[in-house]
Amino acid sequence: MYYSALQILKNGLTGNKGWKPVWRNPEPKKCYDIVIIGGGGHGLSTAYYLAKVHGIRNIAVLEKGYLGGGNVGRNTTIVRANYLLDGNLEFYSHSLKLWENLEQELNYNVMMSQRGCLVLAHNDQQFDNLAWRGNANRATGDDAVLMGREDVRNLVPFLNYDDARFPIRGGLLQRTGGTARHDAVAWGYARGADMRGVDLIQNCEVKGFRIEGGKIKGVETSRGYIGAGKVGMSVAGRTSQVAEMAGLRLPIESHVLQAFVTEAVKPVIDNVISFGMGHFYISQSDKGGLVFGGDLDMYNSYSQRGNLPRVEQVSEAAMALMPMIGKARMLRSWGGIMDMSMDGSPIIDKTPIEGLFLNGGWCYGGFKAVPAAGAAFAHLMATGEKADWATKFNLNRFETGHVIDDEATGARPNSH
Ligand SMILES: Cc1cc2nc3c(=O)[nH]c(=O)nc-3n(C[C@H](O)[C@H](O)[C@H](O)COP(=O)(O)OP(=O)(O)OC[C@H]3O[C@@H](n4cnc5c(N)ncnc54)[C@H](O)[C@@H]3O)c2cc1C
Repeated sequence: MYYSALQILKNGLTGNKGWKPVWRNPEPKKCYDIVIIGGGGHGLSTAYYLAKVHGIRNIAVLEKGYLGGGNVGRNTTIVRANYLLDGNLEFYSHSLKLWENLEQELNYNVMMSQRGCLVLAHNDQQFDNLAWRGNANRATGDDAVLMGREDVRNLVPFLNYDDARFPIRGGLLQRTGGTARHDAVAWGYARGADMRGVDLIQNCEVKGFRIEGGKIKGVETSRGYIGAGKVGMSVAGRTSQVAEMAGLRLPIESHVLQAFVTEAVKPVIDNVISFGMGHFYISQSDKGGLVFGGDLDMYNSYSQRGNLPRVEQVSEAAMALMPMIGKARMLRSWGGIMDMSMDGSPIIDKTPIEGLFLNGGWCYGGFKAVPAAGAAFAHLMATGEKADWATKFNLNRFETGHVIDDEATGARPNSH
């Protein structure tokens, strides 16, 4: 079904009885050309681009829970392209361009809102760093505006400027960055893949791999064996566990990251704002809740809930930056399992097992990556070649020393 204003009118006048389920609920077949493990943003977008761009239709996405129940439905929805180093720079630039046209591409309202992302600096060194970053972004063709303290004050007057613990020195604004409705992104890609014949199989956990002579043959699942010509892993926080079933040890740790939302308030925050003196970022949802997050909980975990010390630390950062938030009541908090790589950048590559491919290590940045990562992973699985915008996310970079350490924190996954 093609969604349009006419459909809304027609269905509104006829009791909304004409809407169809957005995807089928098929039984798994015995064998597929390609099996993707993980029905999150990355798995679903990969299946979509495999079908749409490469014409491969005999595909299954196997999801152990429900589509979009992982990190793609748990993140703080920030989309931006303001990275610094080669590798991430061109990748996220490409991703933002795909985001700009995603609703038309999918014929689905993902509520993409280019409201601007503002990163703050609180001292000269941070300000110089933002200038450097902004130059790199502009040189790549993305927008970046370096703002002094008074310009920032004009844009976001409600922050703490006078008598602040961390005075604001300036900021870097990317006007084309913003937010998107996270689970709608999963649903839009799921619908697009399903329309092109991809089987989306929920409640189907992959429990092992069948590998013969160094080549992938299929996967053992909670719903029986499924044969596959090629298999792609897009399982986010479970990457190291799933890869271990194939005998692979990866440079990835799993950590829990929390997010928070307040009760709904009147529109107050127009942009996405990132604090410079701690890891804290905030925006306002279309329902009015203030949505924010901070650092990982800093211990390895497979739990989708975090602990109170991080709640306290994030609340402290919120109060330091924006004291008026103290009047809002926190409504909910939740967690997601993050696949943290050793340099904070992702991996999109083949594995040493023929026919088994890896897309993981997305750390804090995997939501904004969904379109470009899916398209790049599909390209790799279909053609065996790296996509132009994702040539540096190699699995062997930790052996060869070609790491992409955007945060300059070294091999400390909890610091990225
Ligand atoms: C609190 C929080 C805030 C975040 N904020 C942002 C942000 O603002 N911007 C941003 O860019 N990124 C953000 N991220 C990161 C981003 O959400 C993730 O990097 C990204 O969603 C991961 O890719 P995915 O969508 O495919 O993962 P997921 O949605 O987690 O998909 C992986 C799927 O694999 C399934 N799976 C796992 N094991 C198996 C198995 N054995 N068999 C079958 N299925 C399996 C899981 O059930 C899951 O559904 C945030 C993450 C969290 C947790």
